[in-house]
Amino acid sequence: MMEQKFLPEVSTFRCIKCNRTFSISSGRMTCSCGGLLEIKHEWALLSLKTELKYYEHIPSGVWRFKPLIHPEISEKEIVMRGEGNTGLYNASQRILEYANCNNLLFKHEGENPTGSFKDRGMTVGVSEAKRLGMHTVICASTGNTSASLAAYASYAGIKAIVILPKEKVAFGKLSQAIAYGAKVYTVEGTFDLALQHVIDLATKDGRYLLNSINPWRIEGQKTIIFEMLENLKWEPPDWIVVPAGNLGNTSAFGKALKEAQELDLIKDIPKIIAVQAKGSEPFVNYWISGKYEPEHNPHTLATAINIGNPVSRPKALEALRFTNGIATSVSDQSILDAKAIIDSAGIGCEPASAATLAGIKKSVDEGMILASEKIVSILTGHLLKDPQIIIDYHQNQLENIDSTFANKINTYD
Ligand SMILES: *Cc1c(COP(=O)(O)O)cnc(C)c1O
Ligand SMILES: [Zn+2]
Repeated sequence: MMEQKFLPEVSTFRCIKCNRTFSISSGRMTCSCGGLLEIKHEWALLSLKTELKYYEHIPSGVWRFKPLIHPEISEKEIVMRGEGNTGLYNASQRILEYANCNNLLFKHEGENPTGSFKDRGMTVGVSEAKRLGMHTVICASTGNTSASLAAYASYAGIKAIVILPKEKVAFGKLSQAIAYGAKVYTVEGTFDLALQHVIDLATKDGRYLLNSINPWRIEGQKTIIFEMLENLKWEPPDWIVVPAGNLGNTSAFGKALKEAQELDLIKDIPKIIAVQAKGSEPFVNYWISGKYEPEHNPHTLATAINIGNPVSRPKALEALRFTNGIATSVSDQSILDAKAIIDSAGIGCEPASAATLAGIKKSVDEGMILASEKIVSILTGHLLKDPQIIIDYHQNQLENIDSTFANKINTYD
């Protein structure tokens, strides 16, 4: 591609391994050394205050931070569906007693247009696909990425291809991908295998890859943090707790906090807790032992985080180091019990999201979190994403799971 550079570019790709930079017009996913790319913005080239003021009223919790996300994209290329602006809810008394803490908030990313935080990254990714003139976008998914990609692609009038691990995708998510009109493929095997397939497909035919290896997805997901900090009047909590699968969100949170500090929006840095499910915890093992081994046969009922070889692990490691955070893992039993408690508070979430509360309870019990500290849990997906597991839990029909907090369905006679 011919490059016509009259003005210095505000945003560039930078390799996190060797520091090499590339123009964003290259549409690259990785460096020639194989390292992951991240987006570096030269905000000094913008008058940031004026720019932020200008976009403040856009009805999207992502694009109202446009100067911090994608300063150079033109407004007519933006594919936006009113994502973000999600609620921040106080924990109920029952939740506080369950986790033994007294200052806990939930930011509910299930309130996005397709019911998960993936919309925040996808609005940026699909907009960039349009800017680059792509006709097809593609992803592998444990479910929510495909639902989001399918919706934004159709809305933008471009084609979508998704590859899903067979029988490991929750019903709500599969229904969305089909309904929004993506071309859906399933593979025998794990998410990690599906991801390998789409990476091969994308590089062969110039299709635009929209897994979280794509650095634009990370830019969009940063706004979870910007918005949460803004909700809290830029008084950060002590802890931010997030479920961890492919580790894109953990990485985005680290980048957002680093940038918020660079821009003088905050002084103290909240510590990130990345929570994996036991049975699918390669990052926790890496964090503890310093040696990375993929998990070849990951298994958890929290399908959104059933990932054995998380692509963004170097970025996530940096996020935990920078914020002084930790990685921890929780059992499916504790995830489903925590979910029942969150659901019964009238807040509700999908299983993976409830790993946060299970992780909080565990960390308080271990003395890692003090009961008085302020915690924000990120509920990543909507309760209706996985209706089957709700019915099964409450009817005591899950193998190896006790339905500790079952609500019975009564017969009226
Ligand atoms: C994608 C997803 C996750 C995992 O996020 P990563 O960025 O892959 O770590 C967690 N919860 C839900 C509901 C998701 O859709
Ligand atoms: Zn490199």
